[in-house]
Amino acid sequence: METNQKLKYERPVIKQLNTGVTNKFGPQMGFMPHTHIDGIAVKDLINTYGSPLFVLSERTIRQTYQEAFSAFANRYPNVQFAWSYKTNYMNAVCNIFHQEGAWAEVVSRFEYEKALKNGVPGDKIIFNGPDKTTDDHMVAVQNNSPIHIDHLDELYSLMAVSQKLGKRPKVAIRVNMDTGVQPIWDRFGFNYESGQAWDAILKIIQTDRMDLVGLHCHIGTFMLSTNAYAVATAKMADLALNIKRQFGIDIQYLDLGGGFASRNTLKGTYLNGADVAPSFHEYAEQICSTLIRAGFRSEELPLLILETGRALIDDAGFMLGTVLANKRLSDGRRATIMDFGVNLLFTAFWYEHTISPAQECSQYTEDTVLYGPLCMNIDVVRESIRLPLLNKGDQVVVHRVGAYNMTQWMQFISLRPNIVLIDTDGQPHLIRKAETVEYLTQLESTPAHLSAFDL
Ligand SMILES: *Cc1c(COP(=O)(O)O)cnc(C)c1O
Repeated sequence: METNQKLKYERPVIKQLNTGVTNKFGPQMGFMPHTHIDGIAVKDLINTYGSPLFVLSERTIRQTYQEAFSAFANRYPNVQFAWSYKTNYMNAVCNIFHQEGAWAEVVSRFEYEKALKNGVPGDKIIFNGPDKTTDDHMVAVQNNSPIHIDHLDELYSLMAVSQKLGKRPKVAIRVNMDTGVQPIWDRFGFNYESGQAWDAILKIIQTDRMDLVGLHCHIGTFMLSTNAYAVATAKMADLALNIKRQFGIDIQYLDLGGGFASRNTLKGTYLNGADVAPSFHEYAEQICSTLIRAGFRSEELPLLILETGRALIDDAGFMLGTVLANKRLSDGRRATIMDFGVNLLFTAFWYEHTISPAQECSQYTEDTVLYGPLCMNIDVVRESIRLPLLNKGDQVVVHRVGAYNMTQWMQFISLRPNIVLIDTDGQPHLIRKAETVEYLTQLESTPAHLSAFDL
């Protein structure tokens, strides 16, 4: 966009903010007890499966997916989602998305293997990321998987693989660009503005050893600007149209990546996340209308691929936990210690998660520091949250934890708990068992001279 252009008039809009009625003590968010998830009592879930516990709602996953898919499919004729494995790679979760029609999007060999084992055909596994070995390339080429090239060294390595196998890899390049959002994500892929991306495209087409089938970008994560997607779509379309013009090659797909915001509240933001996150319709409108206007002939409109992760799964995940203790800090603040911390709730580092008591509770509230159970100072779930006075043994529900927690969790100090999926009939299923010491140590071996000691 030119900077000296007159800005377009945008009509003002009025949007309802659901932050709750404010009383003289402040907004009343989060005090309503959350006693059930999809019809099952929180206390029954904890009695059966223990605390802490992750719970996923199959109904919410499917509803969210269908809402996202139709937002795009109603605006563009040719849409495909690919489930971002790193966002949540529990097989049960992946298979819900595959049943809904999503392909797989992976960024490592082990995710790739997981997708294959789940039964995703090789040509429907998109292989992204900067870390692919020669062996990874060999397997992906043999399975006919679209490989998204991140840097020139990967391009050269893939050239060698194609020669060795006598097979033409199906490739796309990852493109990075200025979308008007700072900081610019230029770490992955080839830059658009500098001509790097075009240069890579020329190398692929002119050496003629692989098929350039697509163009890929993933412009950021938790992107609150929908306009950034219009900018990205225009730049991707520009590359595809230039390829058509110069070489007569039809680019089969444009993959706009993921990055849509979920309805969590980012730390340090004033408004509730549920009020500021754009809807799927707002993202879809920017992407689809840009693409339709870009200048493709209608029979040549490329397939639009989306790799949305967190916005599809965050709402469907809950963390259930129990109060271990209350205490007063030296400055008088109330502190509550929970049985889950940043070991399980990695996203607590950047979100102010909504947390509700799971039983009837006191109407009195107090600003509270919410600590996890780890013997480590950074284990803070919420630095300051207004909560009813909870007692030892009381249970809580943490909302919107479906994305990135069940993959970024760690075994530091405590082991990982059970994960339960509640199906669309309201039946719970254990989809991953709590870890045990045997599980943790099964890959260890102790050298003979260290096997015994006297104390
Ligand atoms: C992580 C990732 C995604 C998913 O991102 P979200 O922000 O969760 O939507 C999609 N594509 C690629 C290449 C990624 O690395």
